[in-house]
Amino acid sequence: MSEIADNIARIQERIAAACRRVDRDPSEVRLIAVSKVKPAAQVEAAFASGQKLFGESYVQEFRDKAPQVQAPVEWHFIGGLQSNKVKYLRGKLAMIHSVDRLSLAQEISRQWQKIEQPIQVLLQVNIGLEPQKSGCLPADLEQLTRAVGKLPQLQIRGLMCLPPHCDAAEAVRPYFREMRQLAKQLEQLELPGVSMQELSMGMSGDFEIAVEEGATLVRVGTAIFGERQKKGQP
Ligand SMILES: *Cc1c(COP(=O)(O)O)cnc(C)c1O
Repeated sequence: MSEIADNIARIQERIAAACRRVDRDPSEVRLIAVSKVKPAAQVEAAFASGQKLFGESYVQEFRDKAPQVQAPVEWHFIGGLQSNKVKYLRGKLAMIHSVDRLSLAQEISRQWQKIEQPIQVLLQVNIGLEPQKSGCLPADLEQLTRAVGKLPQLQIRGLMCLPPHCDAAEAVRPYFREMRQLAKQLEQLELPGVSMQELSMGMSGDFEIAVEEGATLVRVGTAIFGERQKKGQP
């Protein structure tokens, strides 16, 4: 087995074990292989071992890479997004995880109207209230959900977060727990066009804790493809 296939198999086992610890059905959790900065050939290698969902963070890189991937993969956009770049993603994605402001949602709506297709989105929450991070503040989340939920083409499917960096993985657990609480509160509003079935949280260092706290989409890069070079380095 290739190293990538091996890594994916091991992560799936760890996800299943985390599910067992909290009595969840492993089929509720989907693994997104974060392929940013990695070549199309590695996406193909992962697909060959059964991996279907891939996450990308940079618009330009995605534009270059996606046409090089022949396999029918499902692309998820998980990175920060400027409104003027949304047009390059139109029609190419299964889900956008990083909707954190109304102006961005409006532009996504406008672009997907052109192709008359729905687009699933998650609302990104700045769960650690970190000034340097993107994401909607929890206090503003209900208002954003109500506004985005009304836009044509957009289907809100849940929430996403990038919690504060913690040296001990266990320290992020309260943030994941709070995400689940927020999703529950929004679900109870029963807004049309809004469901809270997805919680996108957990990365290489903390995905098991995220699964224990209710994640349905975990975004794992390094543990599958190895360390990344910093952007801008060869
Ligand atoms: C890069 C990235 C990941 C994957 O991080 P790893 O630590 O490599 O698993 C997950 N989510 C987002 C939003 C990312 O940008």
